[in-house]
Amino acid sequence: MEQHIDNIDFSRKSKEIHDIIRLSDFKRLQDLCLNLEDSIAFVLKGFENKHREPCLELTVEGKLDLICQRCTEKLEHTIFLKSGFLIKEETQLTDFYIDDHAVYDLIEGSVKMDILSLIEDEIMLSLPSAPKHENVNCHYKKTDEMLDRIHPFADLKQKLYKN
Ligand SMILES: [Zn+2]
Repeated sequence: MEQHIDNIDFSRKSKEIHDIIRLSDFKRLQDLCLNLEDSIAFVLKGFENKHREPCLELTVEGKLDLICQRCTEKLEHTIFLKSGFLIKEETQLTDFYIDDHAVYDLIEGSVKMDILSLIEDEIMLSLPSAPKHENVNCHYKKTDEMLDRIHPFADLKQKLYKN
């Protein structure tokens, strides 16, 4: 896969890339995940909007094994995200129709835009900041020691009358 594209040319020519990326290729994301064999699928499409401005649409799908912040066990996380980008060209900086662009993120025009890093940014932004299992599914268990601390006198009666 080509990792860098000329994003304005890509949009103007309505190019498309469909591909799959191993999690191990994402340097930042892999620190948050357990299984680096996992991969995500993406589609990057270039097009022009009705003002003939260059745009990109990115769709990302996949399943990641995050780490539960309560029990540190595996937490399956499904990713399905769709993002739109409007590419800023030097000549067009002034007269944007804001309403038309509300759903787009602005990105810089570049002859060498890094696709991996764009995808990684989008995934990172979509992840929960402290991923956790639902309570009933969590593997976190109170230890006996903790239970003793919570109910220190639970067996006091027994001890008192033992003799
Ligand atoms: Zn958990």
